[in-house]
Amino acid sequence: MQERVGQCEVCGREVFCLNGFLDGVAENGRLHCFDCADREAPDGPRPQVDEDSKSE
Ligand SMILES: [Zn+2]
Repeated sequence: MQERVGQCEVCGREVFCLNGFLDGVAENGRLHCFDCADREAPDGPRPQVDEDSKSE
């Protein structure tokens, strides 16, 4: 059983509730999918910057 809860505020993906388990993160009334919640985690490790990226 899955129930649509809403949309991820970042990527717009639909977030469902699966058997009572939220397929994402709801915080302060905002809804994020796990991917975006991972990316936006304030205390998480920062993603490595590609050294080949151009700097202007
Ligand atoms: Zn998302």
